Amino acid sequence: MRKYNYLIVGAGLYGATFAQQAREAGKTVLVIDKRDHIAGNVYTKTVEGIHVHQYGAHIFHTNNREVWDYVNRFAVFNRFTNSPVANYRGELYSLPFNMYTFNKMWGVVTPEEAAAKIEEQKQAAGITNPQNLEEQAISLVGTDIYEKLIKGYTEKQWGRPCTELPAFIIKRLPVRLTFDNNYFNALYQGIPVGGYTKLVANMLEGIEVRLNTDYLANKEALDALADKVIYTGPIDAYFGYKLGPLEYRSVRFETELLDKPNFQGVAAMNYTDRETPWTRIIEHKWFQFGRDDQGNDLPKTVISREYSSEWKPGEEPYYPVNDQKNSTRCQQYKALAAQESKVVFGGRLGEYRYYDMDAVIGEALEKVKREE
Ligand code: UDP
Repeated sequence: MRKYNYLIVGAGLYGATFAQQAREAGKTVLVIDKRDHIAGNVYTKTVEGIHVHQYGAHIFHTNNREVWDYVNRFAVFNRFTNSPVANYRGELYSLPFNMYTFNKMWGVVTPEEAAAKIEEQKQAAGITNPQNLEEQAISLVGTDIYEKLIKGYTEKQWGRPCTELPAFIIKRLPVRLTFDNNYFNALYQGIPVGGYTKLVANMLEGIEVRLNTDYLANKEALDALADKVIYTGPIDAYFGYKLGPLEYRSVRFETELLDKPNFQGVAAMNYTDRETPWTRIIEHKWFQFGRDDQGNDLPKTVISREYSSEWKPGEEPYYPVNDQKNSTRCQQYKALAAQESKVVFGGRLGEYRYYDMDAVIGEALEKVKREE
């Protein structure tokens, strides 16, 4: 008899959801994480009453009622609505692309005028069947918006020309002929009151968690503890990179505590020109309050500049690079993973997928159901 039914490697959202559900179903679980904290990349650290998103901003949004009900068991969600601002050399534009954006860009007033302008630019570019991100972007919003609001930002974020990036990345962004600057097309949206770390801590309540525990460095001994392993680390690392490493984009954050109540008046400002070295600046307090009068009650503010970089071993991997080469290599790793009958690979790193939080939780909920 092994000591636990499940050893869960990684205390992020996939691991925490799986652990919580398995325990609720009467299983014994041990969660380990190599970091010194739980919550993976949704970890928030409290500074001067502000929950700082240490590994990048996370805004919970979903259309999945089951997932929404599930997370609401562990936290109250506030009414934050993501409406980032694009800053192109000091010109400010509303995001996602909506009537405010089109009006500022072209002076158009009606949806018909905006649609006509986009169509005209798409025709001029001669795109009929978009094959890459550049072509997809131009066919969605025209050349002007592509040049000012997409090209520089995307090339900074991904470190590759837009012509070499897959079209689907840009399809994450809505395009609307309405005056609606809610970034997400989601029925439910918000930030957990108390921060994400507290949300995950509530999920893991009553579950044994060992931090500072590196699974791959102690694999044999740790494997011996449980019947099955739920692995949420990088899939290529699990196999010792034997088919070659998968590529990721990494992000470096420069976080500052400022002695002023309001730095930029919005949670996220994207710098969409090519020259500014950071991709965006996050002002964390606006996630929590979302209302100017409340947020301004705090005399200080915390901001993070985000710099995107190519991932190198030893750094934190963030975004899988879903180009052809990496997708092919990933399929080969997945074939190896399928042979590991006692291991489930899950989450953004375990599956090498550009997952949103709700999708990660949804996958974990489904997986645990199939386990029972
Ligand atoms: N994007 C852009 N300009 C912006 C914001 C996003 O061109 O101001 C593009 C960029 O290619 C990015 C993609 O849209 O990779 C998806 O953005 P999203 O905000 O979904 O990225 P994430 O939240 O995952 O960082």
